[in-house]
Amino acid sequence: MPEPIKITFLGTGAAIPSLRRNHPAILLHYGGDYILFDCGEGTQLQLQKARVSPMKISKIFITHWHADHFAGILPLIESLHLSRRKKPLEVYGPEASRFIDALIELSYWGIGFEIIAHDCDEDKKIEKIFENDSYEIYAIKVIHSVPAFGYALKEKDTWNIDVKKAKKFGLTGIQMKKIKERGKIKIKNKVIKLEQVAKKRIGRKITYSGDTMPCKELFEFSKEADLLIHDGTFAEPMEKERPHSSAAEIAKLSKKYKIKKLILTHLSRRYKTTDEVLNAAKSIFKNTEVAKDMMKIILK
Ligand SMILES: [Zn+2]
Repeated sequence: MPEPIKITFLGTGAAIPSLRRNHPAILLHYGGDYILFDCGEGTQLQLQKARVSPMKISKIFITHWHADHFAGILPLIESLHLSRRKKPLEVYGPEASRFIDALIELSYWGIGFEIIAHDCDEDKKIEKIFENDSYEIYAIKVIHSVPAFGYALKEKDTWNIDVKKAKKFGLTGIQMKKIKERGKIKIKNKVIKLEQVAKKRIGRKITYSGDTMPCKELFEFSKEADLLIHDGTFAEPMEKERPHSSAAEIAKLSKKYKIKKLILTHLSRRYKTTDEVLNAAKSIFKNTEVAKDMMKIILK
């Protein structure tokens, strides 16, 4: 069974927060990893509501340095420091080191843990910025009023050995392990390929756009993604062009690029309910939801 990927929308508003919508922050929980995408003002309290200790967070991916997307970092660092954190905290983003240095300058503390800033390369459209045994994280350059990135988590493909088949080929337990590592194995002068005894499971793909106008590269990379969390600031395109997206435009692209599920977030304060944004998208792309604060979804 694949590891469930749990996503909690801590904040789903745009620009000015409201009692209903906090500033942007999305928590992703995969195996033992707790990752934050954006960390707007109030993220700590939202984490408390979600009953997740901020001490568990290992990485924060900031889409861009507008305060609504990062102002929660400073108080979060303060709390981690007071909780005697020792584990390093990694922060990714465009010019992350410059902004993290500036944030640290703003306080009197001697922080008892390391903050490692990773600058996403603004000259690259798509860059792999992290990899472990289970997944990779990519930064995708998007189109906003300041340097901005979307992020995609791409789970690695895995092979599940069909033990019955493998035994037919005469493979022992150790040889099954070896064939998984090497892709093939030689037994009695006969080469057995992994695909002959195993089934491939395609890894899941999740993309978060951050703030952006509709961005072709983001959609190309997210083709057939299991989940796309996208800027849905407006229901329909605005008369005057804004550096954001509308639900209608994103729904069209989600259909074109065969996205499996779309969740729109970062809603403008002008919408008192989700109806307008949801209806604008759903009439084009059925599998759409509009995020709400503290909404949780699990990808199995
Ligand atoms: Zn924003």
